[in-house]
Parts: sequence; structure tokens; C-alpha cells
Amino acid sequence: MIVPAEPESLARLAEIHATIDRAARDAGRDPASVKLVCVSKTFPAEAITPILAAGERLFGENRVQEAMEKWPALRAAYPGVELHLIGPLQSNKAREAVGFFDCIETVDREKIARAIAEEIQKSGRHPRLYIQVNTGAEPQKAGVLPQEADRFITQCRKDYGLTISGLMCIPPVDDQASPHFALLNKLAERNGLADLSMGMSADYELAIQLGATHVRIGSALFGHR
Ligand SMILES: *Cc1c(COP(=O)(O)O)cnc(C)c1O
Repeated sequence: MIVPAEPESLARLAEIHATIDRAARDAGRDPASVKLVCVSKTFPAEAITPILAAGERLFGENRVQEAMEKWPALRAAYPGVELHLIGPLQSNKAREAVGFFDCIETVDREKIARAIAEEIQKSGRHPRLYIQVNTGAEPQKAGVLPQEADRFITQCRKDYGLTISGLMCIPPVDDQASPHFALLNKLAERNGLADLSMGMSADYELAIQLGATHVRIGSALFGHR
């Protein structure tokens, strides 16, 4: 069941920003180098509006369809919204995703790279693109395997003419997250990628220590899903 919006989320938002700032400073980083992606999946517009009214403009959704139902009205009411797709993308949804999102964080296989490249050509829209890396090599999880990441990034660039801006990962739930974050950082660095989307409600401080530029926070902000 979805819990409706409560002003509580505003207190939580302030706390999250304070934590981000502290974690960045502790790591010797500029707090402005860490962006909060508010993960609003499953939450209705009423829960999202107070967060928009508080000034947040960066949001993450994991389903194309859900985002396309919820966000047109919210975007019209609050200019400057930037929407990230953080869930798996099917190639038959590539057109909608390229047309609707400002950043697709889940590019992870050749078929998707090709479909996205085609839609970029047709539409002239250029969403930012991140490669999702399956750092834990979990069979059920999306993402390119770490040992194939370099080759896939090169393939996206050379064969499909895509501009890749960053990497994203979701560490295995039962693992220590730090080796996964460190690995993603290393892969980004050696491929010249500036954006590192890693860290969720439970581990975003650690992710900031290890170089995250985008932390994706859902439940710590909006409450339980
Ligand atoms: C749901 C989700 C999040 C947010 O997770 P929380 O633990 O609720 O902060 C972050 N990233 C992805 C890819 C997600 O699907």
C-alpha cells in the first residue's frame, strides 16, 4: 500500500541534504558535486508535489509507463525537472524512453544501445546515457558484467556513436557495498566517465566517500514502498 504524502518527507529531505553535505566534506569533496536523485517510483503525484515545491528537480523512475502517466502534469507545473530512468529498458520502449527521459541510467546491452541510437537519430533528442554495470555478476540482475564493461563502453561509442556520460550500479543486497562502489569508480575513471550513479537509502554516505556524483534515494525520502 502506498502511504500518502506527509510533510514528514520535507524533514527527511532536509536531513538527507545535511547528510550529503557532511559526507562530501568528510571526503574532501565539494557538496555541490553530489546530486540527489529523488526516486519517486510507486509514489503518486501528491507525494511528489511537496518535494518539487521544496525545490528538488532531479527525479528517478524505474518504469517508462508509470513515468509517462505521472510526470507530464508535474513537469508542466514545475519547470526544470530532470527525469532519470533507473529501471531496466526493453528495446520496444526505447522510443518512449528517449523521447521522455533526460537521462537513461540503464544502458546494458547491444540491442538497447542500437535501439537508443536509432531513436536519438530519429528524434534529435539526446538524453544523457549511463551504462549499468552488474558489479556483483548476479544472474537475475540487469547490467553489463564488470569484465565486459570496457568493451561495451567502446562499442557504444564507436559502433553506435553514443555519448556515454557515466556508470550506474546496484550492489547485491547481502554484500558489503564498498568494493562494488570502488570497482564502479575505477571503471569510470579508466573510461573517462564523469558521472557515477551509486548509493541508495541504506548506503549513500559510503557511495559519496567512494566518489558518487548521483545518489538515488527512495525510501529514506518518500517512506516505505
Ligand atoms: C528503487 C531504486 C532506488 C531507491 O532505493 P531506496 O533503497 O528506496 O533508496 C535506487 N536505485 C534503483 C535502481 C532503484 O530501483
